[in-house]
Amino acid sequence: MAPHIHTRTVHRPVEPVEGSTPLGTPLYQSHTFAFTDTDAMAAAFEGPGSPYVYARYGNPTVAALEAAVADLEGGTGAIASGSGMGAITSTLWALLGSGRRVVAQDRLYGGTEGLLDDLRERWGVDVVKVDVDDLDAVRAALTPGTDVLLLETIANPTGRVADLPALTALAREAGARTVVDNTFATPVLCRPVEHGADVVVHSATKYMGGHSDTIGGVAVFADSGTLAAVRARTAEFGAVLDPFAAWLISRGLSTLAVRVARQCASAQVLAERLAAHPGVTAVHYPGLPDAPGHATARRILDGGFGGVIAFELAGGLASGRAFASSVELAALAPSLGDVRTLVMHPASTSHRALDAAGLARAGIAEGLIRISVGIEDVEDLWADLERAVGVAVGVAVGA
Ligand SMILES: *Cc1c(COP(=O)(O)O)cnc(C)c1O
Repeated sequence: MAPHIHTRTVHRPVEPVEGSTPLGTPLYQSHTFAFTDTDAMAAAFEGPGSPYVYARYGNPTVAALEAAVADLEGGTGAIASGSGMGAITSTLWALLGSGRRVVAQDRLYGGTEGLLDDLRERWGVDVVKVDVDDLDAVRAALTPGTDVLLLETIANPTGRVADLPALTALAREAGARTVVDNTFATPVLCRPVEHGADVVVHSATKYMGGHSDTIGGVAVFADSGTLAAVRARTAEFGAVLDPFAAWLISRGLSTLAVRVARQCASAQVLAERLAAHPGVTAVHYPGLPDAPGHATARRILDGGFGGVIAFELAGGLASGRAFASSVELAALAPSLGDVRTLVMHPASTSHRALDAAGLARAGIAEGLIRISVGIEDVEDLWADLERAVGVAVGVAVGA
């Protein structure tokens, strides 16, 4: 007798794929995996290298993304997370602990700053901030017992590029491991492991995904011991990536290099034109020949200077607000790395709680605008930006 419909709706036949290779990444939207007998299942609980058993420990679609990003970054392996913060939190929790010490670049991504505050306040982690352009200051901060040097390849919003070979060498001398947030550069422009980094973290939400439709993170490792330690934390926090999000990010990787190349080329054009505009008082973009650290950027980045530009409008807060509300093609939105151009006015939005002195400490001028350049036609983008700068400058002179 055939099983009941209530049984057959559940036990549908599944066709294995054999004899050819799917070119799209197969989506295994399965959190659990079945076994023929208890011995086979027991073997799956043995840990890394054993069959999939439960998706918080591993899933084939997530593993495909991890293998792809590890390959792009030149690491031994990678761990995907539910967001960039999942990757950063799992990594720092694995490498730090109560009473341990981290030396961090001043002005990191806001979420990372919050995590460091929390590690200090709740767990007594010694957090030392340092200007990483000053190698002597970094050397002095890396006292014996320092566990981690925490950097970003391209700092936001200054666009300063970290001198990774020099910094990772200092960390190694001090016995510390270097963790680099490579979100802004992507492995297309920079592969920090090649410059001595131990761990590379990403918000895959940004360039890797690239289409405003998914959130995820990845950590890449130079050695398998650190990977295993972070894998355990990621599973413990449940900071794992859903298979469908992994599938979307893998799909995003297919076009990452062409998107980034075009975003860099357009950003270079827009940065140069903004720098020549009388309504703009400063442009922060590492591709400008007179940018501080341009020489470092040329050594560390390969194929462009990134897709994010920050610039300062004459007229401060009022101009910034007017600009951000006047763009039509660009979207007023947080995040970056999207196929669409996104603009932000931090002083009136993400950093609105800070007064003028606080903004200055954060390195954010009142008229500072951040643009994440998309893949639209560069002349269409310039027309939009030039018109909005005109509106902003008009506001500034009371027109
Ligand atoms: C967005 C971002 C993060 C955090 O990533 P989420 O995916 O939002 O958790 C970390 N670092 C940098 C540089 C980012 O831009």
